[in-house]
Amino acid sequence: MRDYPEHPKTGWKRAVFLDRDGTINVDTHYPHKIEDLEIYPEALKGMQILAKLPADLIVITNQSGIALELYEEREMSAFNSELRKQLDEAGSRVDAIYYCPHFEKKNPQYNEETKCDCCKPLPGLVLEAAEDFQLDLTKCFFIGDKTSDIAAGQVAGCKTILVLTGKAGKEDDRVPVTPDYVVADLFEAALIVEREMLG
Ligand SMILES: [Mg+2]
Ligand SMILES: [Zn+2]
Repeated sequence: MRDYPEHPKTGWKRAVFLDRDGTINVDTHYPHKIEDLEIYPEALKGMQILAKLPADLIVITNQSGIALELYEEREMSAFNSELRKQLDEAGSRVDAIYYCPHFEKKNPQYNEETKCDCCKPLPGLVLEAAEDFQLDLTKCFFIGDKTSDIAAGQVAGCKTILVLTGKAGKEDDRVPVTPDYVVADLFEAALIVEREMLG
């Protein structure tokens, strides 16, 4: 599902996909209140580098807190708006945000079937974005702090970068993956993407 923008416009035809919690901002356990939003300083620097590249910057985020009724979609949207605002003010950008609001069978309202196809490690959100923005996924990158981010990116055909912020690939329900790169944070990840796209 897409939270932003309402009407996607085709951009660079390639993207840098970014996980949100634990990659851009501190994962404060289902962050959803504006006051919980804390962008890592190194991630901010990374987003400033990425903003100069010929690529759409697309956030792909699991938000099972919605199915768990910890918060509502409008609260997530407000949090996302604030994230976009703070990045814009720092000279960066976010071109789109996709989210999965599901969580297995906890809340039937968000689970028409037994399970969804958009919850990372599944690639549903990446494929949805690729359709909306006419992306060549072989030219895209996926950056995230969990093995489920890497798995989603790899299945979709993207290059993948695991950052050692947030869960640092050590989440309890990790899946076996081999990222193309493992780096300290989003700043270092951005330098790799910059080198590969411009080099
Ligand atoms: Mg994360
Ligand atoms: Zn889903």
